[in-house]
Amino acid sequence: MIINYDRSAGFICPFCSSIVKRKINAFSFSGKNEITLTCPTRGCREECVTITKRPSKFRISVECPICGDDHSVMYQSEAFWSKELITYKCPSSGESIFHCGTDKSVRNALQKTIAEYSAPYDASRSDADMIAQMLDIVHEIKDEDKISCQCGSHNILIRLSDNNILLTCGRCKRVRVIEPTDQNLIMLINAESIVIGN
Ligand SMILES: [Zn+2]
Ligand SMILES: [Zn+2]
Ligand SMILES: [Zn+2]
Repeated sequence: MIINYDRSAGFICPFCSSIVKRKINAFSFSGKNEITLTCPTRGCREECVTITKRPSKFRISVECPICGDDHSVMYQSEAFWSKELITYKCPSSGESIFHCGTDKSVRNALQKTIAEYSAPYDASRSDADMIAQMLDIVHEIKDEDKISCQCGSHNILIRLSDNNILLTCGRCKRVRVIEPTDQNLIMLINAESIVIGN
């Protein structure tokens, strides 16, 4: 079996309800037996998940976004590194609260989670809410000066047009359009930076 030591972990932050995807690989554990996955949302940064390496096993501890308890579960190392997708469900509510696997499988699983999560709020949750949330994140990234253009400029204009977020480079006028989709919301939540032209 070929084991690819690149995993993604997906979870919901119990503090701010952000949906988070983080990468893990064998190097994440170099020199230590435990890693903590934090929420990347600006202003939150809480610790959500702890993964502890044991001989031939991994223990995953999750602060549950549904019931608020701490849950933990063990996986064999081989399953942890090789399975397409591992999903852990909260034992009290039965909801999926942690995914680990290939990037693609975790992304798909998170999209289902978003669909289930937003279902009860469908009536009140509009595109406008999503755009407002996305715009907030874009502005926070800009405040950290982490939006740039391929041409090297950091002079970026943020505006809304037809319900899309447009990032325009003040120097070369390149534009990046970000549509209000679940996928783009996840992208923004997890973005360390944004480059126009990519
Ligand atoms: Zn958070
Ligand atoms: Zn729970
Ligand atoms: Zn430019």
